[in-house]
Amino acid sequence: MTERTAPSPWVAGIKLRCPQCGEGAVFAGYLRFRDACAVCGANFKAADAGDGPAVFVILVAGAIVAPLLIIFQFALQLPSWLALTLTMVAAVVLCLVMLPPFKAVLFALQWKHKAREVRNEDIE
Ligand SMILES: [Zn+2]
Repeated sequence: MTERTAPSPWVAGIKLRCPQCGEGAVFAGYLRFRDACAVCGANFKAADAGDGPAVFVILVAGAIVAPLLIIFQFALQLPSWLALTLTMVAAVVLCLVMLPPFKAVLFALQWKHKAREVRNEDIE
């Protein structure tokens, strides 16, 4: 029997797959974690990436959208209302598209490094 090697947390996360086997889906809905992997049975109940994914998504989306507004308004000379509308739509779409993979990658990294909350029992 060959031991299955764990997939790269980056690859598993971007593909929205289980960090243990790299095959089962990690989400049941848009951003809701499954209770367990349907393929290998890994328990996802402790999964909590917190605010981390949102922070990274805001940073990346902002770095893309801010120059876009400048290009729309000054290089293309679009009317302000149009430039602002296009930029807002781009910001919302970018955030919605990036959130699941960012959340899955952070979860996979936590899984690989066994990150979890510190409890009192750990300190004693
Ligand atoms: Zn799995």
